[in-house]
Amino acid sequence: MPPPRTPVPPESLGLARIEPRHVAALRAAAGDEAVLDDPERLEPYARDETEALRFPPDVVVRPASVEQVEAVLRLAHAERLPVVPRGGGTGLSGGALPVCGGIVLALERLDRIRVIDERDLVAEVEVGVTTAALQDAVEARGLFYPPDPSSRESCQLGGNLAEDAAGPRSLRYGTTRRWVLGVEAVLADGRRIRAGGRNRKDATGYALAQLLVGSEGTLAVLTAATLALIARPAATLTLVLPFGRLEDAAAAVERILSAGYDVAACELMEEAALAAVARVETLPPPLVGSAAMLLIELHGRDPEALLEDAAGVESVAHDAGSGDAMVADDAAGQQRLWRVRRKIGEAVKGISPYKEADTVVPRSRLAELVRAARRAAERQGLTAICYGHAGDGNLHVNLLRGELPDELWRARRDAAEEELFREVLSLGGRITGEHGVGWVQRRFLPLALGPAELELSLALKRAFDPRGILNPGKIFPDPGAEGSR
Ligand SMILES: Cc1cc2nc3c(=O)[nH]c(=O)nc-3n(C[C@H](O)[C@H](O)[C@H](O)COP(=O)(O)OP(=O)(O)OC[C@H]3O[C@@H](n4cnc5c(N)ncnc54)[C@H](O)[C@@H]3O)c2cc1C
Repeated sequence: MPPPRTPVPPESLGLARIEPRHVAALRAAAGDEAVLDDPERLEPYARDETEALRFPPDVVVRPASVEQVEAVLRLAHAERLPVVPRGGGTGLSGGALPVCGGIVLALERLDRIRVIDERDLVAEVEVGVTTAALQDAVEARGLFYPPDPSSRESCQLGGNLAEDAAGPRSLRYGTTRRWVLGVEAVLADGRRIRAGGRNRKDATGYALAQLLVGSEGTLAVLTAATLALIARPAATLTLVLPFGRLEDAAAAVERILSAGYDVAACELMEEAALAAVARVETLPPPLVGSAAMLLIELHGRDPEALLEDAAGVESVAHDAGSGDAMVADDAAGQQRLWRVRRKIGEAVKGISPYKEADTVVPRSRLAELVRAARRAAERQGLTAICYGHAGDGNLHVNLLRGELPDELWRARRDAAEEELFREVLSLGGRITGEHGVGWVQRRFLPLALGPAELELSLALKRAFDPRGILNPGKIFPDPGAEGSR
């Protein structure tokens, strides 16, 4: 078990520590069974999927209704108690970790799909529903909710909204924000709001619902969302393109996507990422033996037409240096390939402690990003493994610790990461494409935002959460800084 790191003292942010009387008041607000304060039961809420971090909360509250969420926030606001909203705990930027202690507000019991409306093509869902549960429910009716983070079985829609989660298919369909028509949320002081609605267009004042998407639990607690749906694609096809060099695979992406085919996903996997999966399960043959692979999904109406498109994509890829494609047009074959892709994150984690940089650049700069990642890692004597959503210019660069002692690892990791992010920004990129700033990226925020944008962001935080109780210590670089209270 990794040792707990020194948490941010709540007093340094003008917040209070939890006392027994607060726990009693929380029990009164949300019911006895909703409140956990036994250390053993707090433990699962001390981590998410971000490296080896552990910050135990003082108390966990698992409300079963929106009224209970309101009551908890009214109390926390009055008493200046830290509140960290939590979904499935699959986050990769430490967003759900209670770095000041306080209350973890676990929304997992708000897990009803309230409505699936087949006429308006919308779903109204509570935030504790997992992404996979919503997708399965709408697909059973011939409908489709496209955002597909690889953690879809365990992440929840609240976490997806709070991180503006994406995934392979955001290339074709956009990130979560694009699908949010409206939200129900509870403000820091316990007032409930509804922003947006179920309309496909809405120019009524500021787009508050979209602002809350991606706000990482720092502006309000989301309790439900109205999401747009579409008809399920009639035909899908997956093809694998092998490349002799990682850079060539990266450079090919732009050419393939400019060729006019309906590409829903375009993922890059380097050999070392696939080798990590091969340690735990046998890879399907097409995924063995090349320095890098592109995994491409095509969507359309007609299976025959998709096969023709696949031949077209293969021909463009050939010109860009690929070997022969392998095509899977049946559901089982496609699932086998995608299963491997979805396993990579967890498998890389199994090799060694690591630090992931969620880099994103304009697509035309992808090959330069791959070179920059290699350079930054090599300069510090580290190994980097790259994979991810190449079609969106979004690569997860994993720096591996290997056998390095703690202090050396930290110094080299920090240096490599800073060099990499500076390069990313000089390529016109950003410091996170989909995992959010959270706790672990916050020191890089001032590299990406100018002073005016930073001040404006802090002003928004103050407007929504004047006492700074919601997810304190996140996003902004210095948790104790004046503006973040
Ligand atoms: C194996 C694996 C694969 C992944 N693949 C992808 C991928 O392809 N694409 C991608 O984008 N991400 C991916 N992720 C990251 C992660 O799954 C997403 O960020 C996901 O959206 C987090 O959802 P969660 O429910 O687990 O949120 P949590 O980790 O519980 O919380 C994440 C953040 O959301 C806030 N939050 C949670 N619920 C609420 C709420 N109701 N109201 C307000 N704030 C809230 C938390 O405070 C925290 O800041 C992956 C993670 C893993 C482990």
